[in-house]
Amino acid sequence: MAFSRNQSLFFILTLVLAVLLVNWLQPKEIDMNVSQTRTIVVGGGLAGLSAAHTLIQHGAQVLLLDKKPSLGGNSMKASSGINGAGTEAQSSLGVSDTVEAFTADTTSSAGQLARPDLIHALTSNSAESLSWLSSNFSIDLSLVSLLGGHSVARTHRGRGPPPGFAITSALMKKLDTLPAAEVIKSAHVVRLLEANGRVTGVEYETNGETTSVQANAVIIATGGYAADYAPSGLLAKYRPDLLGLPTTNGDHATGDGHRLASSLHASLIDMDEIQVHPTGFVDPKDEGAKTKFLAAEALRGVGALLVDADGKRFVDEMERRDNVTKAMQEIIEQGKGPIRLLLNADAEKELKSHCDFYVSKGLMKRYENAADFAKDTGVPNAALIQTLAEHNKYASGELKDPFGKIHFHNGQFSPDGVLLASWVVPVVHYTMGGIHTDASARVLSAEGKPIPGLYAAGEVIGGVHGKNRLGGSSLLEAVVFGRLAGAAAAEAK
Ligand SMILES: Cc1cc2nc3c(=O)[nH]c(=O)nc-3n(C[C@H](O)[C@H](O)[C@H](O)COP(=O)(O)OP(=O)(O)OC[C@H]3O[C@@H](n4cnc5c(N)ncnc54)[C@H](O)[C@@H]3O)c2cc1C
Repeated sequence: MAFSRNQSLFFILTLVLAVLLVNWLQPKEIDMNVSQTRTIVVGGGLAGLSAAHTLIQHGAQVLLLDKKPSLGGNSMKASSGINGAGTEAQSSLGVSDTVEAFTADTTSSAGQLARPDLIHALTSNSAESLSWLSSNFSIDLSLVSLLGGHSVARTHRGRGPPPGFAITSALMKKLDTLPAAEVIKSAHVVRLLEANGRVTGVEYETNGETTSVQANAVIIATGGYAADYAPSGLLAKYRPDLLGLPTTNGDHATGDGHRLASSLHASLIDMDEIQVHPTGFVDPKDEGAKTKFLAAEALRGVGALLVDADGKRFVDEMERRDNVTKAMQEIIEQGKGPIRLLLNADAEKELKSHCDFYVSKGLMKRYENAADFAKDTGVPNAALIQTLAEHNKYASGELKDPFGKIHFHNGQFSPDGVLLASWVVPVVHYTMGGIHTDASARVLSAEGKPIPGLYAAGEVIGGVHGKNRLGGSSLLEAVVFGRLAGAAAAEAK
């Protein structure tokens, strides 16, 4: 059959277009001029940033990918501080602390799921990691407070902005100035590439395009899954009982790294261990909001009380998060909610920037005295005054607290003094479970063997905190394991 000239031209043109289209749809291969030490970091929260800086300090090139239009993740939201034992700040404040004491507190909090190797990595690297932050990024960590579950004051923050923001933004800013770092935002990593049992790169999607990049190693630092509420999500799979609770986490926290690692048969551990934080703020303008602001642990650290609708205390406010949450849930189940968190003027002064922020957001209200608070909320004034008077006696040592409270800070409440009050509820906050790594941040397979070329750090890893994470230990985990992963990946061949 003979074709006319026009028909032939049309045929050739169609063929060329089809070839171009198929080519365009193929994942792009980027030849990044991969050197022996080019490493990909997936996730730009504190763990990813710590890993990236450490890699560069070891002479490596870094490609950092984050699925969101800006870096920072949940790390930017952290409001209480970062733990360290035996730090300069502690010694200048006269706080005596040791790695052994921090290890003992962490082990006790982790319960029967305590893993000594991971706990040791966390605690023994803590002071050095804090001084790494201060000396490399000029971060102020000079204030130290005591949080629930700790035997001494070891949670550090500075005088300026909240600690998560202060730390994470300092690392972000510096990374921007380093030629060895390339950062691509809105780059959603969807696949790990592998050849001969070794991780060789990733595939990511950005603006509807898929791109493959090669590297000598990949560090997963994608955070946890405390916002993975999808019907097929990790909360539904491991803890369906929590689906009804709100979360403090950003919408990026959907367990992507867990799925990426599992696709290469990495082992996931403790996945049903999820921390419900006792105090998420209920915003009176949007009571049912699924995402809630966290009422920082530091509020209880500076002496906040928790009272029920009858104006009565029901727990040692300085107890561990899991125990405070349990007590609150019992109160709510008994119909004695809402639960309110109360601060006096001394505590307000100590946590001034936090309180100003919460008041400006309408999450905390300032009352001139207890009677004003009682009138506004319906809490019986007489019962509240009695609660405050009793607490004063426990704080002064005149009587023993029936709930076992021994750490009192700003413990004297006058019924005629200022009260700051917030409505608080338990919130899904942190996922203790995650990718199984060894104490050098190498990802382990189901057989317990390191998967060559694959590392993980931050909330995405599992097992560091066992059954319960202590306040301040997650920022620390991000820095410690980020640095361990960076150092180990820099050596990867
Ligand atoms: C409100 C709040 C307050 C907190 N306060 C404290 C505190 O005071 N002290 C403390 O120790 N801990 C605190 N925590 C916990 C702590 O902030 C986090 O656990 C920690 O910051 C996690 O760091 P990360 O780097 O592992 O993850 P994140 O900081 O969450 O970062 C993960 C990053 O990975 C990116 N990512 C995810 N999936 C992909 C993908 N597929 N491709 C590319 N990028 C991806 C995300 O966009 C994100 O930027 C708090 C948490 C919250 C929510």
